[in-house]
Amino acid sequence: MSALLSRRNQVQWLVLLAVAVLLPTASLLWFMTRVIGDERLVVKQKLAALYQDKLSDAATKTAALFRARLAALDKLKPGSNPYAALRQLVLDSDGQGLLIQADDGALLYPQTAGASGVDVHSDSLLGPAWQAEFAARQYASAAALYGKFTSARDPQMAIAAMTGRSRSLARLGRLDDAIAECQRAALRTSINDAGVPARVTLENARLLLLSLLKQAGQTPAHAALFNQTVRALMADLYNPAAEQPLLPANQNLFVARKTLDALQGPFVFDNPKARDDLKKLADAEELSIAAAEARPISPGVYDEFLKTALDRTPTYALRHRAPSSTLLVLLPESAVASGLGGFQQAFNGSETTYRILDAADDYVAGDLRPPGKPFTVAALPASFPGWTAELYFEGSDVFEKAAKRQIAVYIWTGGVVILMVLLVAALAARAVSRQIRLNRMKNDFIATVSHELKTPLASMRVLVDTLLEGNIRDEAQAQEYLRLTARENERLSRMIDNFLAFSRMERNKQAFSITEADPAEIVGDAVESLRAKHNSQQCHLAVDLSDPLPDIKADHDAIVTVLVNLLDNACKYTAEEKKEISLKVYREGGFVCFAVSDNGIGMARRHLNKIFDSFYQVDNSLARKVEGCGLGLSIVKFIVNAHRGAITVDSKPGVGSTFTVLLPTGHRNGD
Ligand code: ADP
Repeated sequence: MSALLSRRNQVQWLVLLAVAVLLPTASLLWFMTRVIGDERLVVKQKLAALYQDKLSDAATKTAALFRARLAALDKLKPGSNPYAALRQLVLDSDGQGLLIQADDGALLYPQTAGASGVDVHSDSLLGPAWQAEFAARQYASAAALYGKFTSARDPQMAIAAMTGRSRSLARLGRLDDAIAECQRAALRTSINDAGVPARVTLENARLLLLSLLKQAGQTPAHAALFNQTVRALMADLYNPAAEQPLLPANQNLFVARKTLDALQGPFVFDNPKARDDLKKLADAEELSIAAAEARPISPGVYDEFLKTALDRTPTYALRHRAPSSTLLVLLPESAVASGLGGFQQAFNGSETTYRILDAADDYVAGDLRPPGKPFTVAALPASFPGWTAELYFEGSDVFEKAAKRQIAVYIWTGGVVILMVLLVAALAARAVSRQIRLNRMKNDFIATVSHELKTPLASMRVLVDTLLEGNIRDEAQAQEYLRLTARENERLSRMIDNFLAFSRMERNKQAFSITEADPAEIVGDAVESLRAKHNSQQCHLAVDLSDPLPDIKADHDAIVTVLVNLLDNACKYTAEEKKEISLKVYREGGFVCFAVSDNGIGMARRHLNKIFDSFYQVDNSLARKVEGCGLGLSIVKFIVNAHRGAITVDSKPGVGSTFTVLLPTGHRNGD
């Protein structure tokens, strides 16, 4: 029952301890994970706040750049000549294309016409000549037929006739004549009022002249003529000042491309810048035509950068309502990037780097391969709908490192606290288990003490009762009974002495008066106090004192108790017959050794270091034969320790045991 109770007690204690450890540990771990999670957030927020100013600065600058761009667009004045606007946009700014809409929604630029190239009308006056040239392939008669109209008053007819004649002459192999004829047509200037068809014819004449010159081969005169013709073409193409009627965009582009083709060689054109400009303008016109066909921007969107659906490298569009018309400006990625120069200014040279993504999360500007992850992401001003600016640290993981360092501190602190909790718990567990063990021992003690006290008391009572009743044979028997009573009494006293010694020892109240003591006297007293018992139990005790022996530093009575206990045990744990006990006292170094040997039951090895514990008995059954309650050796050990001595035991089951007590010698003889 009590075992059951104590087990339940034990379980309760264990559960309590586990809760005491687990609860704070779990809360600490929970707290730590929260703190660690928050730490990254906190660092991020701190940095984000730090860079918020820079970001808004960048946004302000970007907005200013954007306003400047819009103001520049307002100045394009595309109403009169769209090429003036296109030229300005492409050559002076960073535009890549332009669409112009009238306020009524009609497309002003780029307008396209159905066909380009040589204007052939079979019903015109030149019909027979064309017939001869293209159908009959009779070039001589074609040349003659064209010749009739080369001086016509209608400039378009005159130019067409000269061009036709030139073509025919070239077919006849008269290249120089063909060039001379074509030159007359190509370098005419006064066709201003003649309208678009005349211009187309004139530009075609010029393109023909360029190809004739190519065929004729390089001479200084041809080179000069080539340059002159190209200049004449360029003066008309994309020329804002030209009084010429405007060609439809696709025809204009055709002429521009042909001109650029002619510039491929073998003649060297003397103005490469003009050639490059022409190339840019032709590209812009081509893109504008494509954009006009694709209608990429949803209506109603103004002053916002949007990606076009054009099949090109990312091209952005910006629709703006200029004073008298609406412009749709096509811009390359680089133009948009330079429009975001505010970011460049704000973040250049700092420890941060940035990247701008458009609404489709495509890269637009900034660091192409930024390091790590952005620590903050901000929206761009309204003109960049859905665009974002991401900020990164140059040193990639500066902030990650800072966060990690802080986290490491938390983890270490947490770890140390958990360790401490575990340590305290372990100490508490030890203390509790000791307490439990002690309790159990005390219970055992009470049971043993009652049992041990009962036996001598009962036998004394029987003896005394017999004597009182006078139920005895003779004086000798009375003497015998009295002697037995005295022995039981002595045994009882010794037992009570031991209990008291233990009790004092437990309360740490044992006070020893340590003086110079003579080992021989101690041995004499011990042997004397056991003589009666040993005699009655036929114990043969051999005492062997080596001579001379130094005094020891000891409490005489305490060491007598030590020897009495050891000698008593030797007698108790040896079988009835032939009890051979020896006590040898000798000097060894600074110690005097008291060795008590018996030829008794001995002990197994595993018991040897436990027998000095209080209440420990190898055979602890109540049914065991010998008296005792497991205190003798613990008292011995306590006394020996208090004397700064030592006790050793050597034992073999069935052979016997030897207990050796070593006590330090006194001053006088301690040399
Ligand atoms: P007890 O009162 O039981 O004798 P002790 O503390 O004197 O208690 O001894 C503890 C135990 O050690 C004994 O119960 C016994 O089992 C064992 N013991 C002590 N001395 C001897 C010995 N000389 N021979 C064999 N066993 C011994």
